[in-house]
Amino acid sequence: MYTKDGESYFIVDAHVALWDARRENQRNVHGEQFIDCFYDYHRNLSPESELWGHEEFLYAGGERLMKDLFTDGYVDHAIFQPAYLGEFYKTGFGQTEEAFALSQAHPDKLTYNHNFDPRNGEAGLDQLRADAERFGLQGVKLYTAEWHGDSRGWSMRDPWTYRYLEVCREVGIKNIHIHKGPTIRPLDRDAFDVADIDSCASDFTDLNFIVEHVGLPRLEDFCWIATQEPNVHGGLAVAMPFIHSRPRYFTQIIGELLYWIGEDRIQFSSDYSIWTPRWLVERFVDFQIPEDMTEYAPLTLAQKKKILGLNAASMYGLEVPEHLRLPEDLADSGETATGPREPAAGDRDSLVGAGR
Ligand SMILES: [Zn+2]
Repeated sequence: MYTKDGESYFIVDAHVALWDARRENQRNVHGEQFIDCFYDYHRNLSPESELWGHEEFLYAGGERLMKDLFTDGYVDHAIFQPAYLGEFYKTGFGQTEEAFALSQAHPDKLTYNHNFDPRNGEAGLDQLRADAERFGLQGVKLYTAEWHGDSRGWSMRDPWTYRYLEVCREVGIKNIHIHKGPTIRPLDRDAFDVADIDSCASDFTDLNFIVEHVGLPRLEDFCWIATQEPNVHGGLAVAMPFIHSRPRYFTQIIGELLYWIGEDRIQFSSDYSIWTPRWLVERFVDFQIPEDMTEYAPLTLAQKKKILGLNAASMYGLEVPEHLRLPEDLADSGETATGPREPAAGDRDSLVGAGR
């Protein structure tokens, strides 16, 4: 929970990882390229006070994760969204056993999502059923640019992917998180293209598709797709730190998202441990649309509370203490828009009038 100026916020960090990219676990040069690219994102987009050394960045470990998220980071609940990357790392990148053990030790604080790869065919379908049962899965994180033998990626439209989504439906996995957007060396940018979300979202209207990283740099593609598909949501991992390094770019991202898909389908995340949640939560609560960017309506308190935690809490059925919920008069009616939304008329005038 975070409190500022008499307002308290329930915080869900909807995209965190516990990875091991240490040299002993790197399978080949691509393991090194991948983590070095993550480290460049970290270095280029973080405030100086939040920088980690390269060694500690390779592996944070469970103890530090608990401290950074829950002791220091205001987070009430966090969701593991692991990447496998078995071609680059010996035991994989995301550490399944360690993360799952932490989630079991702190079920009130952590949810473990797993992953699948439709290129594993029939055997992978059985594995998915077994994983769903063992981990009690509510969600998966998918990585369409992952390498697999000679293949450099797969699509959400593939017939095999549909068979996996049918199994998700069958075993009660409702939340399909997909990395769409930022490319990472040596993966292919186009294998992360957001366009394939359009068909699976239409064909599986009973599943939620959370597009992590909101499709960046293809934000416009994402917005035009998501506005037509009420079961498509946007995850702010990687978008968040621009609040520091490129505040006007961040304004554009959050402004476009609110305009096109609205305040109920956007989820905060730090993308730990590329970034830590503490400063991101503080900055976002303090954030406001600059006065001269008049095409975007100012962010309201209710919008910030929804984005920082209430949206993800509702998707994952998390218990939110009563005093952290929105009062009835602040609560949106919750209808899902299927077209561009008008900025709330008069919002800016009333804020200006209040001496902003
Ligand atoms: Zn991702």
